[in-house]
Amino acid sequence: MSTAIYPGSFDPVTLGHLDIIKRSAAIFDHVVIGVLNNTAKKPLFSLEERVNMLKDAVSELDNVSVESFEGLLVDFVKQKNTNVIIRGLRALTDFDLEMQMAQSNRMVASDVDTVFLSTSLQYSYLSSSIVKEYARYGVDLKEFVPECVISKLIDKMK
Ligand code: ADP
Repeated sequence: MSTAIYPGSFDPVTLGHLDIIKRSAAIFDHVVIGVLNNTAKKPLFSLEERVNMLKDAVSELDNVSVESFEGLLVDFVKQKNTNVIIRGLRALTDFDLEMQMAQSNRMVASDVDTVFLSTSLQYSYLSSSIVKEYARYGVDLKEFVPECVISKLIDKMK
């Protein structure tokens, strides 16, 4: 059975992330979304909130599960008995940083591969940061985040 790990902060999950999740779920038997508990970053949503929003957003995808992790990504990947990481690529600006991360993961785990999937055109410039900015100024969010995230974002901004 082929398993792939899709890691990220997902603060919060956007339709761009969901696009990559659906694409991955069509390629791999099982996709594990790994929500990073990064103590160095100050996320808007707690780890639990980020995990729950994702669980809600992927509830109709049978072969997708959501977990949190901390520490080295490659350790989480090994724990799940796989060697495949998925990352989404938007525009060229993502490439440099993503390549750096893929190569650094390789340095500590030479058999780990990163598979890059390109997002649908309409999500090419969508990010969790932009969505938070939109929410702050009352922009209609339905084109950008899953339904279950909208009210949570609005509540956070109050
Ligand atoms: P990180 O903090 O690890 O970058 P993110 O939650 O911002 O976590 O992103 C997780 C993954 O999703 C990354 O591979 C990122 O490039 C990708 N991603 C983010 N936004 C989009 C989008 N709009 N379309 C496709 N992929 C995206």
